Amino acid sequence: MTSLLIRALIFDFDGLILETEEPIYRSWKEVYEAHGVQLPFELWVKTVGSSNQAFHPQLHLEERLGGPLPQDVIDRRVARRVELVLAEPLRPGVVDLAKAARAAAMKVGIASSSSRDWVKNHLERLGIVDLFDCLRCRDDVEHVKPEPDLYLASLDCLGVAATEAVAIEDSPNGVIAAKRAGLRCVAVANRITAGLDLSQADLRLTSLADVTLPQLIEKLGRPR
Ligand SMILES: [Mg+2]
Repeated sequence: MTSLLIRALIFDFDGLILETEEPIYRSWKEVYEAHGVQLPFELWVKTVGSSNQAFHPQLHLEERLGGPLPQDVIDRRVARRVELVLAEPLRPGVVDLAKAARAAAMKVGIASSSSRDWVKNHLERLGIVDLFDCLRCRDDVEHVKPEPDLYLASLDCLGVAATEAVAIEDSPNGVIAAKRAGLRCVAVANRITAGLDLSQADLRLTSLADVTLPQLIEKLGRPR
């Protein structure tokens, strides 16, 4: 059996540490439905793990309606998103895994296509910001996922090589970014990404609560 030397875990944030993907999707779907327009899931998933550059839900709806959305509709959508996100607990197993990595003298980072404010504010609210040695967010790079920039910046910040780090992701864009940067990648899907193509991941888990850190590393060392 191969024994891997893993010195860092790099977590995605949205949909992986906190299930924000379904709340964000739902907040837009409700606005679309209120205007009698379908929100196409196949277009929506382009944004998951990436940014609105891949698909812009507001511009798409405004195009379909032939005019701008009233400001109060936009404001209510943001408030609804906040309400739904705040109702979400941390996803199972994340904190235990990050703590186990720290206890094993490994580095722990976050690589997120979202803004630093978004990620940091949630981590602070949830009381887990100190678990992470390094946050790399869209403010820090030229290209978000699926480009490798966020993972390369995280490796640089943590001082480890790609072969020594494991990425943990929930979305195809995230998995592709990690693999392009040369990392091993574990995929843990959520309600939005469960049906999407995560086949580039080295390992797929239903929940991070299903494994200990040694088990995770052992599974990654097995031949595929
Ligand atoms: Mg994600």
